[in-house]
Amino acid sequence: MNLLVTGGAGFIGSHLCRRLLKNGHYVTAVDNFDPFYPRAIKEEGIEDFPRERFTLIETDICNMEGLLQALHARDVDAIVHLAARAGVRPSIEAPMAYEETNVGGTQSMLEVARELGIDTFIYGSSSSVYGNNDKVPFAEDDPVRHPISPYAATKRSGELLAHTFHHLYDMTVHCLRFFTVYGPRQRPDLAIHKFARQLLSDQPITMYGDGTSSRDYTYVDDIVDGIVRSLRRAKNQDEPEYEIINLGGSETTQLKDLITGIAEAMDIAPEIKQLPEQPGDVERTYADITKGRELLGYDPDTSIEEGLQKFADWVKAYYTDRAVLDV
Ligand code: NAD
Repeated sequence: MNLLVTGGAGFIGSHLCRRLLKNGHYVTAVDNFDPFYPRAIKEEGIEDFPRERFTLIETDICNMEGLLQALHARDVDAIVHLAARAGVRPSIEAPMAYEETNVGGTQSMLEVARELGIDTFIYGSSSSVYGNNDKVPFAEDDPVRHPISPYAATKRSGELLAHTFHHLYDMTVHCLRFFTVYGPRQRPDLAIHKFARQLLSDQPITMYGDGTSSRDYTYVDDIVDGIVRSLRRAKNQDEPEYEIINLGGSETTQLKDLITGIAEAMDIAPEIKQLPEQPGDVERTYADITKGRELLGYDPDTSIEEGLQKFADWVKAYYTDRAVLDV
């Protein structure tokens, strides 16, 4: 197939592109190398891709006209839309920028799909849409009316916009709600990567709250597996469908145990500095993945210990000759 991956140079996007290329597909990535974190990490992820089957279009997803021109002859079979401003806390500082990229950019990509007759749209949504859901685990039909950060609200908006395109233009849309993803080249703003850099530079680990908040951490290979399965299902439907599907690890880890786990994987004793809870952060996430198992055969199998070890091995190698804290 000919696949278009927005955010293809990013953390999840680059892992996805690698898998798609390995599976023999042609891949076009759209990415503007947003300066939220260094370009070098993104380039490391895509530098060895086979140029005869991989094309990078360096532009903003809001540049609809430019994208239509660049893509009209490419005969794209499906779009996996992962480009976004990611991150909860920065969205509180810059809500307008988040709205522009995550809402405007998603609208733009849906229009690109419609204009080019692309009938399959896989959208990278987020567990943050559940807000402070009381009920665990979080299931796809739980109400998602109370997001608690601008980021979460924009991700939910993307799901709604995509639904209108499914309804009006018969697109098959899957909204995949990712639960905290980690692994090599993870975004530096995310807790595991931040803790690793603090450990490497003998700084105390900054723990927000008392360490009992918990997350459903999902190893990036498991997420990629879920996206590939979603693509496969979407392209094999006789009738267009709209589905929201959780992709999580389906196990939760408390923050204090995560700190112990990453410190053990890195073999560095942690010093912990406790700070107040951050506004916008949810208390816990926990995915009910029954639907993903049933519809996709999704079956995440990387334990947190195994995943943290793989991450620690990458992070130690990556920062051997780089400044650790300037990221
Ligand atoms: P990332 O920041 O590594 O990847 C996003 C990519 O999009 C980056 O390479 C960035 O340069 C690009 N981008 C940003 N704005 C753009 C624009 N206007 N035009 C073109 N490209 C642009 O983040 P990630 O962690 O890989 O996240 C990928 C997707 O998954 C995002 O949609 C995010 O909301 C979603 N998600 C991630 C997680 C997680 O834990 N990592 C959890 C839930 C949802």
